Amino acid sequence: MQGAVTRPILQRGMVKAISFNAANRSEAMAVLKYYLNNTTAQELYTRIGTALSDPMLLSTDVENFLSALEGIGIVTSSAHAAVNDNVVRHCLRCHQPYMERDNRARSCNILHTLQMPARPEVVGQAPKVRAICCGADLSIEVATKTLHFTGRHTTSVQNVAYNTTNVKTCAEMGCAGNAAVITKGA
Ligand SMILES: [Zn+2]
Ligand SMILES: [Zn+2]
Ligand SMILES: [Zn+2]
Repeated sequence: MQGAVTRPILQRGMVKAISFNAANRSEAMAVLKYYLNNTTAQELYTRIGTALSDPMLLSTDVENFLSALEGIGIVTSSAHAAVNDNVVRHCLRCHQPYMERDNRARSCNILHTLQMPARPEVVGQAPKVRAICCGADLSIEVATKTLHFTGRHTTSVQNVAYNTTNVKTCAEMGCAGNAAVITKGA
């Protein structure tokens, strides 16, 4: 990287063995704080994603980056467990099969259940439809462009807000839930 301060390449697990002196540490801290204070969360997320998609990225850089994130407690052992987990699970919210390594912030999507036909248009107001799942009257634009729920798939009922319309239990759906898939995967 041009213009960057040359630092020794740290091998995985060696991070703690190398001690920077106090001046280096305080400058590094100042640089990191300056960077964080001048970067949005989205920008940081996008830049890391772009860098990691670059096929020219060096293996040592990948390893060092992961080591650093692990060293300061951002990436934990649960991420290692997730990528090595081959069990096909059943989501207790959307009832789709998934593997934990593919789970992400917007994997599990539930549409609103809309009552049709649309409520008669009130003069001077945009027509609305009733989302019977939420008990709310929404404009057609909002009703069709938003989801009732979006998030990660889950195997924990505590994470699911069941209702009588669009988020039902496995028993109500007549699916075998996780009993079948875990037995099959074992
Ligand atoms: Zn809804
Ligand atoms: Zn799901
Ligand atoms: Zn189910």
